Parts: sequence; C-alpha cells; structure tokens
Amino acid sequence: MIRDSITGEYTLVGATRGARPNEYRDGPSLGCPFCPGNEAQTPPELARIGEREWRVRAFANKYPAVVPPEGAHEVIVDAPTHDVEITREGMEMWRERYGALRERFPHGWPVLFKNRGAYAGATILHPHTQAIAVARRPVRWEAMTQAARAGAGCPWCAEIHAARERGLVVAEHDAAIAYVRENSRFGWALTLAPLECSLSLDRASEAAWTGAGALLAAAVEVLLGNLGAASPFNVLVPSDPHAAPGTFHWHLELVPRLATLAGFELASGMFIRSALPQESAERWRRMFTLPHGPL
Ligand SMILES: [Zn+2]
Ligand SMILES: [Zn+2]
Repeated sequence: MIRDSITGEYTLVGATRGARPNEYRDGPSLGCPFCPGNEAQTPPELARIGEREWRVRAFANKYPAVVPPEGAHEVIVDAPTHDVEITREGMEMWRERYGALRERFPHGWPVLFKNRGAYAGATILHPHTQAIAVARRPVRWEAMTQAARAGAGCPWCAEIHAARERGLVVAEHDAAIAYVRENSRFGWALTLAPLECSLSLDRASEAAWTGAGALLAAAVEVLLGNLGAASPFNVLVPSDPHAAPGTFHWHLELVPRLATLAGFELASGMFIRSALPQESAERWRRMFTLPHGPL
C-alpha cells in the first residue's frame, strides 16, 4: 500500500494484476478456472461447502490486489455452474470468509464485493465474489464514522425511516428493506438493508442475513430479466466491525453499471448521478416482485 504525500490518498499495488486472464476481452478459457475439475488452476482451497463435490469454494486470489501483512484478497466461487449469480450457500460462505478476515486483521477493514461483466471490473465469466481486507481502515470510512458520531443515533436507521416517508421504498418484508438512497452517488443503485441495526454482517442474525439476501437475489433477477442477462453490475457489502456502536448499519448495495467513471469523476472524486431518487424507485418498483420467504 502506498500513500500519495500530496493528496493523502492510499493506493494498493497489485503487481501481478496485469497478468490476469481476461475472458471478457479474450473469450472464454478452454477450461474455466473456476469450474469443477479445474481446481488445480486456483491457489489452495481455504474453505468449501459440499463434501465430495463442492457447491461453493473459497481460495486466495491468484493475482492479489494486496498481500500480507498489508491485507489479503480472496475469491469465493458462489456455485459450480455459470447460470446462477446469488446463492444461499454462496452467501453463507461470504459471511464465513468475512469473519475469517476480520479475525486475521483485527484492526483492519474487510469488504465483500461482486463484479459481474467487464464494465463492472470482472475478468472471469464464472460467477464469483471477492473479499479484500486491508490492514488499515480507509480514509473514507474514518470520515463516515466521524460524521455519524457527531449525529444522534444510527444515520442508516434514520435514512430507512425517511425513505418510507419519501416514497423511496421498492420492497419491504419483516426482516429487510429495499430502497433507493436519496443522496446516493449512483442513480440506479438499490440498497438492501436489514431492519435490525448491526455494525457487521458476520454478527447479523440469521433472519437479517437471509432476509436481505433474498431481496438481493430478487433484485439481481429483476436487473438481468429487464436489462438483459449480460448487464454489468457490482454488489457491495458495506460493513464496519470496528465502528462505534450505532454509527453504522451493514447492508447490501446493488449497483447497475449503466455509466462509467469518466474524466470528471477521476479528476474530482465526485460522482455524477443520472436519475432522481423518486424516478429510480418508481422504475424499480414497477419491475420488482417481493420474494416469498428468506433466500
Ligand atoms: Zn466455470
Ligand atoms: Zn441502524
């Protein structure tokens, strides 16, 4: 990790990242490195679900963005096939690996995310999720904690309450809510938040985790069903185990990648949002079907 002494920004250095195969650019590999039978193409397994035949698998990233002692970078293959993106067992593994990284870097900051499609930063077609832990909390997160400390109570609980009053809720059941953030950086992003207020996903109740997961799975289905199976998106799982109690509220965020980061964003660090929140919520609502029960 390097720090720019002029801007104060930290940057990870993944010196082997350039050697990654890119199936979106070069076409599918002859033998998909994440499919059953090709396990030898990945670093040693860290965890799996399934005995003789695995259904979910986790291993260190072969081309890491960060390495110990500055952090760690893992891959979770959510399913043995290419036809499903979000699975209940895959999400069980998200929690397990998140907890493992949190223990390994007790003062650091782990994050889970999914990149799907070249536009969203993916290079391998097989559905997968990644976990990165950095040994120090990012500057942006320190700033969020400071801001939350200055307020009264959890700002996310307040935002969920306001979303109901402002017509920004897309779907809600007894454990979780899907809504559009009024002041989000992204025009079409959907936030899937548990109603239970908890700092970190690995400490969430089972109902909160599977409830939010069911909304995420439904939202991804809506996205791919309406915008096409090749639609690029990211899933972010913001969670902050070391924040002060009541200053953060873990959640899932689905970000359709309808726009790229262009010159203004790179120059300013400021995003340009392309849709008003009510417009975005209304569009999501028209497409959304509430899932029956947990994921
Ligand atoms: Zn595959
Ligand atoms: Zn909260």
